[in-house]
Amino acid sequence: MNGRHLFGCRPALAHTAVLALLLLCIAALPAASPAVPAPASSPSPASNTRPAVAIAPGSSGEARARIAELRAKIAHHDELYFRRAAPEISDSAYDSLKRELAALERDFPSEVAAASPGAAALGDDRTGDFPTWRHRERMLGLDKTYSKAELRNWHRQLLARLGHGEATLVVEPKFDGLAVSVTYEHGRLVRAVTRGDGNEGDDITANLSTIATLPATLYSSGPQDPPPDRIELRGEVYVSWAEFARLNRELGTDGEPAFAHPRTLAAGTAKLLDPAEVATRKLEVVFYGWGACEPAAATPASQRGFLSQARAWGLPTVGDIQLAHDADELWLAVQNLGRLRATFGYPADGAVVKVDSVALRRALGETEQAPRWAVAYKFAPRQATTELRGITIQVGRTGVLTPVAELAPVSIAGATVTRATLHNRDTIARLDLRVGDSVVVERAGEIVPRIVGVDRTRRRPDRPPFAYPEQCPSCGTAVVQLPSEAAVRCPNSACPAQLRRRLDHFTGASGVDIRDLGPATVNTLVDRGLVREVSDLYRLRRTDLTALPGFGGPSADALLAAIEQSRHARLWRVLSGLGLPRVGVTTAKRLALRFDSLEGFANATFGELLPVVGPSTAREVVAYLAEPRNRASIDALVAVRNKP
Ligand SMILES: [Zn+2]
Repeated sequence: MNGRHLFGCRPALAHTAVLALLLLCIAALPAASPAVPAPASSPSPASNTRPAVAIAPGSSGEARARIAELRAKIAHHDELYFRRAAPEISDSAYDSLKRELAALERDFPSEVAAASPGAAALGDDRTGDFPTWRHRERMLGLDKTYSKAELRNWHRQLLARLGHGEATLVVEPKFDGLAVSVTYEHGRLVRAVTRGDGNEGDDITANLSTIATLPATLYSSGPQDPPPDRIELRGEVYVSWAEFARLNRELGTDGEPAFAHPRTLAAGTAKLLDPAEVATRKLEVVFYGWGACEPAAATPASQRGFLSQARAWGLPTVGDIQLAHDADELWLAVQNLGRLRATFGYPADGAVVKVDSVALRRALGETEQAPRWAVAYKFAPRQATTELRGITIQVGRTGVLTPVAELAPVSIAGATVTRATLHNRDTIARLDLRVGDSVVVERAGEIVPRIVGVDRTRRRPDRPPFAYPEQCPSCGTAVVQLPSEAAVRCPNSACPAQLRRRLDHFTGASGVDIRDLGPATVNTLVDRGLVREVSDLYRLRRTDLTALPGFGGPSADALLAAIEQSRHARLWRVLSGLGLPRVGVTTAKRLALRFDSLEGFANATFGELLPVVGPSTAREVVAYLAEPRNRASIDALVAVRNKP
């Protein structure tokens, strides 16, 4: 199928109008239906772990202000999470904002309408870049629980509604990715759509068709056993921990990983405008439910029945399933999954509990937001509190300044954490971090630890705010911030810190791989002015090296031989080592197949790049090649490689 027509530009106006309408509807909601339903069981607002310590409002005026503030914050983070797939706070920090809001709205019902409207209860992942498609059956969210008491309460209410003493529950791991609905008609895949606002989502069929484990046709044992005429399958697109690590290794040598979380990576990849680019990242999909099913007689009778039928059709389904028949078994099953998740190859942020029987589900029904027959239990985040000892600034190879938190060593989930990423200047300002603060650090899987909160009650009043440097810490050049970017940059192309990082990247394992050249030697070469450009490596003489501290004749000879050998490194190594925008090892290998020399690549046109890397990367690579400094440095490498 040719997917190109799918990516025609929808008028942005239409989308904006829908949004505005949506917000208006929310604004018009009466006080009795708060934007975020409070679980009836929630204990008092202050009793749950909350990363950022906030003061519980005493008066209704304070409550109104806090409600408005929370709504604005949640709307901001929804925008980052759902539309840009680039969240800047952790899930638990986000959840705690929502919980605090729900609790306040419950405790101060008179202020709910008075406070300014803010967040939509369900997010909306539509970006405006894709045609949208209406789900035949609405895609609901899940109510969430965070404690044993909340889960027991949900179970008690469930049994009360059912009017009998037992219901078989299926407990599944909660995959952390992007929710999708994939429709098969007469066994053939016809469409894949994101959840969007629950009613309609982005049509990303072409992108999901690149997933190897997503069958184009459902397996059927014969004509007497046909798949349904039409079925909407509900699942999650995700990226495994291994693929997350691989892509970050490929792309991220710039102080911090290119992707903050596998979920961001999955959501961002599923929404790329170029299916060829999607195919270079290993997306996976897993199914756990269904929406509309025709004919109705083909509707599964139970969750377990659905899962085994879906497997028989050849679809990937959730594994690690547990069963529970009462509240104690339920708690055990959830805890089991919590223990097991460290061994899962995929990111899981909780457990999903579902009533197995579809007949019972129908009896229970649903609310505006979520089915009554299912609930999510969110695993406790792996957090610890420690002291912020300092904030250092790293300069990446493209000049981006990244602040790093230096922490008093603390153990989280079995690892000692001494540093945490602070992303950018805005993160420090938003958290109002001050050196000496008591901070809450969170760590999940292979993710770089991050700071999710500050205990302001333990701050001494004399601690000054952190003064973000106006100059590059490496070369002293005044930093710049582009209006479109959160990142602050050092604009000096001769900046020693940038050069060091460029050299590290070029000579590293995903570049031309000069193993004899360690970071310490790179530093010395840069500090002494022996290397001002990557190509200067090939001008080094034996006497340059033997003059360095700790360098004897034999080590100088070994390094020179390794550098000489790298002159003939395969083309993909050079392309990957250059650190071209959005070009990791996989893309570099594809480029090397298309262009037979570095010279040929340096003259590549948009049209020549397009079939290999897709429009967005092609555009950025052309812009990179047009930059005189980049061009000069590539030309110098061409000369080095062409030397006899
Ligand atoms: Zn600099």
